[in-house]
Amino acid sequence: MKSYAIVGAGYTGLSVLAQLLEHAKGDVASITLFDVPEKLAVGTAFAEDVSTNLLNRPVNSMYFRERGDFGAWLARHDPKAPVTDSAFLPRARFGQFLCHQLRECQQQAASLGIEFNIVPQRVIDVFSLETCLRVQTEDGTDRFYHRCFLCLGTATSHDPYGLRHQPGYYDSVWPVSCLDITRDDCVAIIGSRLSAHDAAIALASKCRKIYFLSRKGALPRQIEGYCDITPQAFTTDEIDRLLVAHGRITVAQLFRLLRREFNAHHCSLSQFIQHADPGVTAMSILLALNNTVSYAWRKLSEHQRQHFILRWQPRWQQLRIPIASPNAEKIAALFRSGKLEHLHGDIAITPRRQGFTIAVPGREPIVASKVINASGISSAPASYPLAQRLVQRGMACEHPFGGIRVCSDSLCLQDVAGRTVSGIKCIGQLTVGDYYAVGNIDVLHSQARQAVISGWHDTPLAECAQGEER
Ligand SMILES: Cc1cc2nc3c(=O)[nH]c(=O)nc-3n(C[C@H](O)[C@H](O)[C@H](O)COP(=O)(O)OP(=O)(O)OC[C@H]3O[C@@H](n4cnc5c(N)ncnc54)[C@H](O)[C@@H]3O)c2cc1C
Repeated sequence: MKSYAIVGAGYTGLSVLAQLLEHAKGDVASITLFDVPEKLAVGTAFAEDVSTNLLNRPVNSMYFRERGDFGAWLARHDPKAPVTDSAFLPRARFGQFLCHQLRECQQQAASLGIEFNIVPQRVIDVFSLETCLRVQTEDGTDRFYHRCFLCLGTATSHDPYGLRHQPGYYDSVWPVSCLDITRDDCVAIIGSRLSAHDAAIALASKCRKIYFLSRKGALPRQIEGYCDITPQAFTTDEIDRLLVAHGRITVAQLFRLLRREFNAHHCSLSQFIQHADPGVTAMSILLALNNTVSYAWRKLSEHQRQHFILRWQPRWQQLRIPIASPNAEKIAALFRSGKLEHLHGDIAITPRRQGFTIAVPGREPIVASKVINASGISSAPASYPLAQRLVQRGMACEHPFGGIRVCSDSLCLQDVAGRTVSGIKCIGQLTVGDYYAVGNIDVLHSQARQAVISGWHDTPLAECAQGEER
């Protein structure tokens, strides 16, 4: 019988918990879930915050155990306020659904006779011992487990302009409701993607003026909704067939498959890439391919991955992560009214005694009283203190394309010498180098399942060890 630790209780940690309970075949003695109390079950994305923070996918494409479960839960829990499948709801609503899922998991564990614990603490380190793992929390307690899943989630890129400790600077946009913004404030938001939009919409009525600051000036695309798509050409079977035929696969071959996929649905890939407003079908194709894109990435050589990152990465991210149309319309209205402006280029931010001077090429500097960092998700292990410790001790190895290296079949960590670390698996944003498309629930859901059902590379000693806690 094995004892399991799950570090991080956002969507991913919870998915691992549900999969462990589903696939437990009498060998799970106990499961312990670690996270800080305010993030338990909801993580970063789905925590309580302003109601204008919307899910970027409609009700029918958000799920936990299986497609449709979120919509079914909404219908059961709020029968007086029916929502359509195509509605874009506040993110916190999905968080409430996840809290319900956590309670269901607790009951399921009890009915299976599995001991289930929640430790409301941050984990600061994990050590690999001969027969087990030592998990250390910030209160200095050591606990011992046979196996551990690291589901550390998403961390923001930290302090891109070196403004930490300056009064009026916020290093994170979440929760938007905790930002101290007043009527006279002129707010500069670093970034112009989804989180920047969330902040602008929530703060527009509270301040005088808002600026987006970005290097390239790109804005996310708008999405009206999604339709059901069954992939025809860009499938794992086709990718395997190419691999067998050519012995390797290239980015160019994948784009050819993607073009065939678009054609099969009477869409043009070139038009999609060039035009600002993609159709529902085009965006739905990309949504339907989340898992296959991740699969294809694992089949590419490091050289081909490098080629994609240099040539396509920024464009792909802008194409892939759209903004829900209700919020896109609010942002358009803010631009029209002049309340919101987008400054882009090689921007410099200098702190003053009060506020900040923002220098933008080709125009007079502006003065902002508050600066908020919404520059996006970091995939550098340094942004995840626990991952950083493992890298420093050689137990994990930084991936050249972000995050840390994992075994692509089992998601077990790989150490600095390229050996598989027995007993520790990593899921989510930190596997971006090996899995690429990890910023969506489809890939996280698949990873959780794969991590639970795949092997652990157990050492003979760990195979026969029993759980204990000290
Ligand atoms: C603002 C935002 C909005 C998003 N909106 C959507 C959306 O609408 N639809 C969608 O499909 N996807 C969305 N995403 C993508 C999102 O990343 C995933 O869908 C998913 O929620 C990620 O879950 P996670 O558990 O991997 O990460 P997180 O939600 O970040 O959870 C990780 C958890 O690990 C905990 N943790 C980290 N380190 C430790 C430690 N050392 N000890 C203990 N606990 C630790 C954190 O406290 C956190 O609770 C959004 C992402 C963000 C950032």
